[in-house]
Amino acid sequence: MSFINNWLRSDIQAINVYHVPKSKNMVKLDAMESPFPLSDELTGQYLAYLADVQLNRYPNPSASSLQQTLRELMGIPAEFGVLLGNGSDELIQMLALACDANDTILSIEPSFVMYAMIAKFTRLNYQGVELDENFEIDLSAILSAVKKYKPKLIFIAYPNNPTGNTFDRDSIISIITASDALVVLDEAYYAYAGDSFLNDIAQYPNLVLLRTVSKIGFAGLRLGLLIGAQDTVVELDKLRLPYNINTLTQVSAEFLLQQKDEIDKNAQTIITERSNLSLALEGIKQLTVYPSQANFILFKALGANDLFEALKTKEVLIKNLSSAPRLTDCLRVTVGTAEENNLFINIVKEYYD
Ligand SMILES: *Cc1c(COP(=O)(O)O)cnc(C)c1O
Repeated sequence: MSFINNWLRSDIQAINVYHVPKSKNMVKLDAMESPFPLSDELTGQYLAYLADVQLNRYPNPSASSLQQTLRELMGIPAEFGVLLGNGSDELIQMLALACDANDTILSIEPSFVMYAMIAKFTRLNYQGVELDENFEIDLSAILSAVKKYKPKLIFIAYPNNPTGNTFDRDSIISIITASDALVVLDEAYYAYAGDSFLNDIAQYPNLVLLRTVSKIGFAGLRLGLLIGAQDTVVELDKLRLPYNINTLTQVSAEFLLQQKDEIDKNAQTIITERSNLSLALEGIKQLTVYPSQANFILFKALGANDLFEALKTKEVLIKNLSSAPRLTDCLRVTVGTAEENNLFINIVKEYYD
């Protein structure tokens, strides 16, 4: 037995390492990134902006001016509080750290894997409630789980990853009002969705939202935010490590996120491309395509594993979910540029010809 095997918590030893596949030289349609790089014009301005950065100093501890930029970009009312995280993943972790020993985190299945992972890291209980056969919320199953397990936190991704859909608004409201939990609606894909709960925060003190800049063009910055009542944010802020948003992220985001027109235009392009891509996939009879309010599409494919491998051979990387529970034969493709999507579609068509 090696030193580390004796030393490490056995539940952590048992975890399978989160696998990020090699993607060098691949058309990358696996991770919900934006396909749009910074324009040459903006790159020049950005570099000039960076020249004033003082990396010998600690960052601005509250990232106050970046907070203001985010409020303007996302239309966050001044009366709500905003808490910044090193990606929204860090905010999920902060919420878990706010719980007591033996508390329970509840979420839906299938959904974003970090809710269960972070529950494990922080030694909390985790309870997943299955979505129905159309990946919609099974309200009565959730309400009885709420009664039975009395969760402290409920995570609902809205739109959901990896299924792509949003849920019935009244069901979400029922969950918020029926529970003493803090209900966390994870709006990572807000820019591509037709609905948001931003304006409902004022009405429900136990509702907070998570958002991120990862899916709107800036995955490399690692910047997420929690939006909630001021007093909620003041308390949760006690769990934030000092200087969690580094100077390069603060300064970069402050400049880049002021380009609201560019960001909105790119999101509109993706929404248009999403409907083109959905239509093209629906035209292939070996596939079942699920509706999406996000920048990716989930589909069920005849011979999903082989199709995934065929794409990979042609240097197109998507996400293979076919061995995940409830997602047998399912693949997930991120919406890319028109060229990337066409390349992808042509390989899929050829595969079934
Ligand atoms: C991608 C994703 C995130 C991760 O956000 P980061 O800010 O990159 O940590 C959070 N929630 C959901 C549902 C996601 O799909």
